[in-house]
Amino acid sequence: MKVIVDRNLCIGAASCVAIAPNTFRLDEENKAVVVDIKATDKDTLIAAAQSCPTLAITVIDDDGTQIYP
Ligand code: SF4
Repeated sequence: MKVIVDRNLCIGAASCVAIAPNTFRLDEENKAVVVDIKATDKDTLIAAAQSCPTLAITVIDDDGTQIYP
């Protein structure tokens, strides 16, 4: 699994942090960063990505397949 946050799209809405607080954190610029991808299960990571209002979070499977969006 790989999770990428597009900093240009992130508006700091923090819904990803609310859903997966052990994986996402807001940095000093109020942009989400991935701190620990292994701290959250796959379904929750996808739910966090789906919660992002700007589609800033991309989730990629181990085989390189883009799961979301
Ligand atoms: S939900 Fe999207 S916009 Fe909000 S902090 Fe996370 S990545 Fe940024």
